[in-house]
Amino acid sequence: MKLIHRSPQNRQHPQSGYPQHTRTTWASTAAWTPAGHAAPHTEQELANLVRRTAERGGTLRPIGSGHSFSPIAATDGLQLSLEHLTGLVSVDPATHRAVFRAGTPLAVVGKELARQGLALQNMGDIDRQTLAGAISTGTHGTGLGLTGLSGTVVSLRLVLADGSTVTVSAESDPELFHAARVGLGAFGVLTEVEIQCVPAYRLRCEEQLEPLEAVVESFLERSAAQDHLEFFWFPYTRQALVKTLTHLPADAPVHRPSPVRRFVGEEALGNTAYAAMCRAGRAVPALQPALNRLAAWGMPGPAVTDDWHRVYVSSRRVRFREMEYALPVESFAPAMSGLQRILTEARAAGHLVGFPVEVRTAAPDDAWLSTAYGSPRVYLAVHEFFIHEHQPYFEPVERLFGELGGRPHWGKMHTLRAAELAERHPRFADALRVRDRVDPDGVFGSAHLRRLLGR
Ligand SMILES: Cc1cc2nc3c(=O)[nH]c(=O)nc-3n(C[C@H](O)[C@H](O)[C@H](O)COP(=O)(O)OP(=O)(O)OC[C@H]3O[C@@H](n4cnc5c(N)ncnc54)[C@H](O)[C@@H]3O)c2cc1C
Repeated sequence: MKLIHRSPQNRQHPQSGYPQHTRTTWASTAAWTPAGHAAPHTEQELANLVRRTAERGGTLRPIGSGHSFSPIAATDGLQLSLEHLTGLVSVDPATHRAVFRAGTPLAVVGKELARQGLALQNMGDIDRQTLAGAISTGTHGTGLGLTGLSGTVVSLRLVLADGSTVTVSAESDPELFHAARVGLGAFGVLTEVEIQCVPAYRLRCEEQLEPLEAVVESFLERSAAQDHLEFFWFPYTRQALVKTLTHLPADAPVHRPSPVRRFVGEEALGNTAYAAMCRAGRAVPALQPALNRLAAWGMPGPAVTDDWHRVYVSSRRVRFREMEYALPVESFAPAMSGLQRILTEARAAGHLVGFPVEVRTAAPDDAWLSTAYGSPRVYLAVHEFFIHEHQPYFEPVERLFGELGGRPHWGKMHTLRAAELAERHPRFADALRVRDRVDPDGVFGSAHLRRLLGR
């Protein structure tokens, strides 16, 4: 088996002999030093590794692309990468189902499916994550009639804590299937994921600035009528950037902005200039409201029609911190007015926020730990530049979202512990029962999981 990350500064762990180095999340929101790193080339190697770790009384935690903001992948045990367990395994053209190795990055999932004339029915705004990482934290896009990625999973293949390998579906082992679909890396190591896809389509993307009040008032109604609707609201402005994605037939005419227009929109305004504005806002906070107005003005991109996997995603090179809560749809209006109050109070206290609030939706699903389990949700995400202090903003927002029945995104920043999470996830106790069955000794455990699950 190849050991990864052999940089000169790597040390060998005295007991395990594995290379050891410190890891951080994409946004540097958490750092940890695993006892070692391993990247098996086959499922059998992976299973042997899990069994040996369990026999030694050690712990092991899989990691994807490290794009979670929370320390959900952190471990002081063995860090396991599936970077060699990637790619398409099989496709069933009759059912539109595809099986991928779990370490496959979403960018590769997109390209492979497109080659097969298939598509994901929905997607978030980047494709850097691995398939396993994305489903394990409940990664979602937007669309009141569409679930997050985990809602489209048909079956999972996992290596359990004793080193055995199982394939589970709603028919074969419903309890493990419902628990492990948004499994937080706590139920086993996913090695393959079967997804229900749809025939390939093109997407038309339109972005425009609209008055905030009108957008808030009509958002849920419009979301019900559109394939994908979301909006971004820059604090201290009265405008929202509304983004609408519409499914079109796979042969709809492609309309791409010129490379120069794309560069100006995505790279210059979206990343380079935006990073400069974030730094200016940090240096001179009084400038922030004007910078936010400028950012909102510069954000709407040109209309685009292209293959689905090219349209959902954008490049995110400005690093930020993010907290996102899934709220019952009835809580949307009070959440928006509460947010405006919090931002006004923070501004009065000298804390100005330069990043937009992002608002999305999802249809209910039946994965036990999904943030959209059992009822449709509206997702409200707050962001801060990665070197800004986030607590003065995130803390009151988290209290507000808690009072409104919100569930935190597992891969984003939040401070909830097991008791509070149990109150908000109706199948929490069932998920713990399944975990006791498949990993009684906590081989896949970590300090963060103990905080989340209470053991
Ligand atoms: C710029 C940016 C944009 C984002 N956009 C969105 C978005 O649009 N929508 C959204 O919902 N989220 C979004 N996220 C959050 C992101 O999708 C999730 O945090 C996701 O989990 C990251 O995937 P990853 O591959 O990096 O997983 P990691 O962060 O590395 O790991 C996440 C979890 O998956 C587990 N895991 C990884 N591999 C396996 C495996 N093989 N078996 C079992 N468990 C495993 C880990 O143990 C951990 O618990 C975004 C994050 C960033 C940084």
